[in-house]
Amino acid sequence: MDRHAEVLRIFVNDLNDNTSAINYCCEVYQTNKSLGTKLGYDLIDLCLTTNGEAAIPTILNPKLNFLDPIVVLEKLPDETGLDVLDFFIEFNLRSINTELKNSIIQNELLKVDLIDSKLQKLEKEREYVRLTSSSICPVCGKHFNATSVVVVTTTGQALHYGCNGKDN
Ligand SMILES: [Zn+2]
Repeated sequence: MDRHAEVLRIFVNDLNDNTSAINYCCEVYQTNKSLGTKLGYDLIDLCLTTNGEAAIPTILNPKLNFLDPIVVLEKLPDETGLDVLDFFIEFNLRSINTELKNSIIQNELLKVDLIDSKLQKLEKEREYVRLTSSSICPVCGKHFNATSVVVVTTTGQALHYGCNGKDN
């Protein structure tokens, strides 16, 4: 039996202190996620073996929310009452909800970013198109006048309509 398993055994069997055992798993999880997760499952097995169904309210502790709720539910005896599970399921649903909300918010932020960059692009294009009396057409080198029909290329250059497509 390794040291961690021995610590859990002492908390649960000798001291009957499940809370400290749960805290111990959480502490290990802070520094080693996979080991903490494994210990969490071990603790659930140990509590069930030691205290049977009486251990369930203790094991379904929100502090152990890093464990996969499906795996935890599968470990529980089949005869576990729904009333006992209510809190656990509600708690897990709530955290799923939070994740969902977060992803919706992220999505909206992405959209805002997208709109923002579209606006910036539009503004950039508008800058390119701004013509002054000294603007000249890069193809023919002549100024634009009030009657010039102007096209804007994809690179943002203003050309005479008639010069578009000619080599420059
Ligand atoms: Zn021109």
